[in-house]
Amino acid sequence: MNRPRLLTSADQAVLPLLIGIDLGGTNIKIGLLDEQGTVLADLAVPTEVSEGPAKGVRRMAAGIDLVLAQAKCSRRDVARIGLATPGSMDIPAGQLLHPHNLPGWFNFPIRDALSKAAQLPVTFANDASAAAYGEFWQGTGRQYHSMILLTLGTGVGGGIIIGDVNIVGEQGAAAECGHVVIDTRDDARVCPCGGLGHLEAYAGATAVVTRTQEALDAGRRSSLTDQLAGGETLTPRLIAQEAEVGDELSWEIIETTARYLGAGIITLIHVINPSGVVLGGAMTFGGAGSTLGQKFLACVIDEVQTRGLKVTTRDLRIEFASLGGDAGYIGAAGLARLDYLKQSFQTPRVEQ
Ligand SMILES: [Zn+2]
Repeated sequence: MNRPRLLTSADQAVLPLLIGIDLGGTNIKIGLLDEQGTVLADLAVPTEVSEGPAKGVRRMAAGIDLVLAQAKCSRRDVARIGLATPGSMDIPAGQLLHPHNLPGWFNFPIRDALSKAAQLPVTFANDASAAAYGEFWQGTGRQYHSMILLTLGTGVGGGIIIGDVNIVGEQGAAAECGHVVIDTRDDARVCPCGGLGHLEAYAGATAVVTRTQEALDAGRRSSLTDQLAGGETLTPRLIAQEAEVGDELSWEIIETTARYLGAGIITLIHVINPSGVVLGGAMTFGGAGSTLGQKFLACVIDEVQTRGLKVTTRDLRIEFASLGGDAGYIGAAGLARLDYLKQSFQTPRVEQ
């Protein structure tokens, strides 16, 4: 993983420091970064969703003290916290709305609760946006002026950064890249959001498994059948494993997934005309380090090059993400840094 250099103490760090937090359904990742984006210390604590959001916030505050102690720094060195959470959320209000993997945390004013517990200002962001900013600031997108991140997991998430600005939208729902329409037929697949023909209904992990199961049910021959009979569960990882050993159906599913993604990416790049598109998340079929991952990426690129306007695709880079699961907290810290810089350079309003 191409991550920033780790320091063991704050001696070489560039002040002020920033805290990045990525709240997930299983773990809370917390990192301490300096102004240049160097990670000074990081850790993960269990979210313990069932204990509720107030205790969760206390665990975050305790985690902040731990990373500061690890790097031999104090809270006085920290300018701001960046907090990334799953949606749905109300960003201006600083509230979680209905994050489906945090049951019992609905409508909780998490930004202000954390700010009070940690005695620091908090920048609140969607986790996919934070991951996009992380890749833009310190990962694959470091050379880009603008980029789109697609996170390929159970669903398809997204983040859009243009010239150091994270695109949030009026309702905080910009960059919902998984809900781009790629199929306008009446019998198109239904997305988990209820919409018809959205990218996620074809290229999210759930959709990949559904499409594979449909092919098996229709009688397609595949080594997957033996694996399933042997007790394996049908997952993108199993499909990748069988594609690696030459199973035709498994590769066909991965290739079609790449084509669907390419179709979604086309729409996005025709709107934004970015420097690059970064593919992250758990479902990259081996990613940059594997031949299968590279074949998958080549199919995405081919689809985009075939369908796109030349002016938007000629210099476009499409690459895998490089920060892995750390992108969220690194990006959250980066977004906090932007807010800190904005405030530092704001001139006070003169009373008339
Ligand atoms: Zn949708």
